[in-house]
Amino acid sequence: MNPEVTALLEVQAEDLRAYGIEDRLRALAPRLAALEQDRKRAEEALAQVKQQVDAEEHRQRELQDRLRQHREHRAKSEGLLEKVTAPREAAAAMAQIEQAKRFIADEEKELEAMQHKLAELRKGTIEREKAVTEIERLQQDTRVALDADRASLEKELNDVQAARNKKAQAVPRSLLQRYDRIRSKRRATALFPLRGQSCAHCDTAIPVQRHSTMVATGATELCEGCGVLLYAAAG
Ligand SMILES: [Zn+2]
Repeated sequence: MNPEVTALLEVQAEDLRAYGIEDRLRALAPRLAALEQDRKRAEEALAQVKQQVDAEEHRQRELQDRLRQHREHRAKSEGLLEKVTAPREAAAAMAQIEQAKRFIADEEKELEAMQHKLAELRKGTIEREKAVTEIERLQQDTRVALDADRASLEKELNDVQAARNKKAQAVPRSLLQRYDRIRSKRRATALFPLRGQSCAHCDTAIPVQRHSTMVATGATELCEGCGVLLYAAAG
């Protein structure tokens, strides 16, 4: 085989290696983005339960105020009942006491239910805080691991590029430029062998005359079907 083609094939092998490393580098970023989404969701869930706690605490304070007022009202009516002498006034005071007692009983029951609910909500808050912390820890660990991966991939890429540049010196400039033009559009294999009298990439047959020249001289040709660079492997 034409030694120029052999040299170019070695360059191409390094280029394909570099594409693979570049792909792996690009795949690192989405991993962090996914974790960032998880963290946002966890923080939203935490904010939501905190809001519920705030609202419930507000209702609790209002209820405690009402309860205190009704207890004061009951005490006042009880004080009044001791002083009044007229039966009508006594009956009115007793009715007031009874009404206040009903309110108090209802409010105490409501307050107890509210305390249960608040306890549950606070437990939920703690769990969600833990979830956020856990994701942040995972994010931190992942960041460290990804940084290490990135550094090692970048080093690998540098090595491959250095090897590529060295090997490229063995390829004539015009051939290298032709090859680079094709691969810049494809970002994949650009140099293919002939398979029989056809392009090994797209299977388009090349004219007999051109095929003979390629075999005889080792020249490379562009495929008319797909635009890759072709060489005669048996040449
Ligand atoms: Zn082709």
